Amino acid sequence: MAILIVQMEAEADAVRIKIMNKGKERIFAVSKKQITACSPYFAAAFEGTSQGANDKETKLYDVATATFEQFLLWLDWHSNSENSRVECDPYGPLYLESLSYHGICELAINMYLFAHAYDVPQLRVDATDRLTWLFRRITKSTFSLPADIVGRVYGEMPKGSPLRMILIDGFYFWGFNDTMTFKSLMGYPKEFLVDVMLRSAKILNDEDEGVTSLSLSRGCDPRRFFYPCYYHDHKEYSEIGDCLETRIPGGF
Ligand SMILES: [Zn+2]
Repeated sequence: MAILIVQMEAEADAVRIKIMNKGKERIFAVSKKQITACSPYFAAAFEGTSQGANDKETKLYDVATATFEQFLLWLDWHSNSENSRVECDPYGPLYLESLSYHGICELAINMYLFAHAYDVPQLRVDATDRLTWLFRRITKSTFSLPADIVGRVYGEMPKGSPLRMILIDGFYFWGFNDTMTFKSLMGYPKEFLVDVMLRSAKILNDEDEGVTSLSLSRGCDPRRFFYPCYYHDHKEYSEIGDCLETRIPGGF
């Protein structure tokens, strides 16, 4: 009986999300409570009064099924976890043991882009933390930043956005290595390469600014350089204190 009630409650809470991609359609049943809690976009889609709002179903276009499935894994993880901070738990959000650094990098960037498009603030933070976690751990010889995904980031994220900045800093810090060739560089957007050069000049002359203006001399220790809060879009120092308290139980 108890199982039946739980099942009925779960069904009453479920909404349908249709993923439309390349002429194909996939339907997912998702917890309305969970998805509306994490995203103002989905809250408006399922609870809003605007035209097109429907309390049971919505469609997403041009989202890869794999991306949406990863988002659902994250949603489930986040909804059932007390400690959501990446630094405390390498097996936390957006980590798959089966993935290489390259795979984790791609997963985190895909999730960030999804979080940007569908307004999921916590996912944006988790993706940021996973990328900075990664950039603190890799080495020059293991660095790999997929050129095609940098192209997507430059197509979908505005100039000066924290995600662009993480990738620029990642390349500045690790990208100049033995595997760099004329051909590999030509795969990146030209604007990205220019940004890396300008960033190098600013860092070398201690003219750090923009989203990373919270600290000037970050030095060459990746653990300091890729500090997550530099990329959380905080406007004031006090926000960092709150961020540490609420998102890193036990401290760094
Ligand atoms: Zn922060």
